[in-house]
Amino acid sequence: MKIIDKINKELKSDKIFYSFEYFPPKTETGKQNLYFKLEKMGKLEPLFIDVTWGAGGSTSDLTMEICSNTQNILSLESQMHLTCTNIDEDVLKQTLETAKENNIRNILALRGDPSIGSDHWEASDQNFKYAIDLVKYIRKNYGDYFGISVAGYPEGHPQGDYKSDLNFLKQKVDAGADFVITQLFYDVDLFLKFHDDCRAIGINCPILPGILPIVNYDNFKKLTEFCKIKIPEYILADLEPIKNDDKKVAEYGIQLSIKMCQKLIDNNINYLHLYTLNRESSCVKIIEGLDLTKDLHEKRAFPWKPRIGSDENVRPIFWNNTIEYYLQRTSDWEKFPNGRWGSIHESQYGEIQDYHLFSISLGSVENKRAMWGEVKSLTDVAQVFIDFLNFNIKYIPWCDNLANETSVINNKLVELNKKGYFTINSQPNVNGMPSNHPDGWGGSNGYLYQKAYLELFASKDRLDDILSGIDTERFSYCAVNKKGDIITNCEGATIAVTWGIFPNTEIIQPTIVDYESFLIWKEDAFNLWLTEWATIYDKKSPSHKLIQEIHDNFYLVFFVDNHYIDGDIFDLF
Ligand SMILES: Cc1cc2nc3c(=O)[nH]c(=O)nc-3n(C[C@H](O)[C@H](O)[C@H](O)COP(=O)(O)OP(=O)(O)OC[C@H]3O[C@@H](n4cnc5c(N)ncnc54)[C@H](O)[C@@H]3O)c2cc1C
Repeated sequence: MKIIDKINKELKSDKIFYSFEYFPPKTETGKQNLYFKLEKMGKLEPLFIDVTWGAGGSTSDLTMEICSNTQNILSLESQMHLTCTNIDEDVLKQTLETAKENNIRNILALRGDPSIGSDHWEASDQNFKYAIDLVKYIRKNYGDYFGISVAGYPEGHPQGDYKSDLNFLKQKVDAGADFVITQLFYDVDLFLKFHDDCRAIGINCPILPGILPIVNYDNFKKLTEFCKIKIPEYILADLEPIKNDDKKVAEYGIQLSIKMCQKLIDNNINYLHLYTLNRESSCVKIIEGLDLTKDLHEKRAFPWKPRIGSDENVRPIFWNNTIEYYLQRTSDWEKFPNGRWGSIHESQYGEIQDYHLFSISLGSVENKRAMWGEVKSLTDVAQVFIDFLNFNIKYIPWCDNLANETSVINNKLVELNKKGYFTINSQPNVNGMPSNHPDGWGGSNGYLYQKAYLELFASKDRLDDILSGIDTERFSYCAVNKKGDIITNCEGATIAVTWGIFPNTEIIQPTIVDYESFLIWKEDAFNLWLTEWATIYDKKSPSHKLIQEIHDNFYLVFFVDNHYIDGDIFDLF
């Protein structure tokens, strides 16, 4: 979707919205970390994210790759920066075509910084000397397909003067730009004056203020000098006594940004654009400090994050904790049959080997070894699952984020793991929770329901222990091992496990447990033991052998407790 359409929709609701800027990292590890952050920060539901185009186009492929993955796999509306530096018409055409193929619909059109090693800017193609030339080219050749934004300078461009710069900005907007993102600033009054001046000359589109939280004194000084940004005296005075203490400077930067943003909001500026410098904590604290997270649940249409542009409205629960795998697996689906997740026979899942397009959350071998350690016994393995539930480690192969709602059953999950049941997915039962609860979804004035669900790996002995006494009327279950031996009482069934009732609509039923897709998920789930866990050890080591044995012999099992009103799924154990 074009960002301007999203902005216009938000403006009608009077809500404050925000967006985050990132830059392409230099190393493979940096890239993995960035994806990890993007995934986490994506939960704050920024209106969009954007990714810079390295000086002179030095990061063009990576910028494209990141935008494509954030757009298509992380479901974050993504805007790609694009500059005139080192560009000619062929390169430009190729770039825009690739963007189109990757569903990237938003471009920030810029002239660009000089190439690395050069101190002044030179056009390589006289047809592309200014940002406006890009705007015109895109509009002429792509009509309304792309949303376009341009840069604005509240204090004037360093190589221009304020007044002529303002006129050039007007020309960029008149040529077809939808909105403006500004250069960073620290004097809010200057931004407000710029905003008024823009309106006075007929620049009526949204102007998003660029906010860069100060994290380090020396960098802050260098950057503001380079960009010729005025720093109000009181900020310099505040920083002077703490300038050598990075921690204090960063904390000051957060509080300053919150004050600046609040002043903008008080002056009816409803949008904020944060330069993250690929850092997570300052930006998250600013958004939280402005109390903007309280409305997040109202924006959640479903308990899971929908793929951008799809009409999907129901999803199997198995991939809840590995959404990016699921999105990749179903990325070839042209549509969700009947607007819903359909039968696996109608719409093929992607090939299994596809799903490591990027391992967003799984990180490096060193990281994993540090988290999971050597495992010599099933007790050691259980301890990894327990450490995850106790927030001592960041992730296990099947899950990189514990949903808030898990907290009510966390202790019971820990106990299960101690007994040798390795839990990988769960939800508690819910009976008529108001939809505006912090864990809610689907909008206001609704009521939400859930059946308790539990998914785990168990040895055959442990499994037999449970199944020998199970109330088969009450619990639906399916167990399958790597070979494909199945034990179940719900063959072929599709069971709604999350549903909501809202005014003036049919019942919404977004999450299901489905027999057929469980057998597809089983392939992923077993493979993760090997591809993510066993591979961190030497092939001949006891740890590798143990993980391989679990993979070969354990069962993957789900249980649904159909007594959603007052049942306790842990009665099973
Ligand atoms: C939000 C934001 C994001 C940015 N992202 C990137 C990035 O990803 N990669 C990167 O390399 N740089 C980036 N930059 C930096 C930017 O490329 C530089 O500031 C660059 O010097 C100006 O770009 P512009 O698009 O504003 O240029 P323009 O609007 O083309 O202006 C450039 C200069 O030319 C003057 N000018 C404009 N039009 C005319 C005209 N018709 N005739 C004569 N003079 C004219 C202007 O006054 C100005 O001095 C970003 C800047 C901002 C504010």
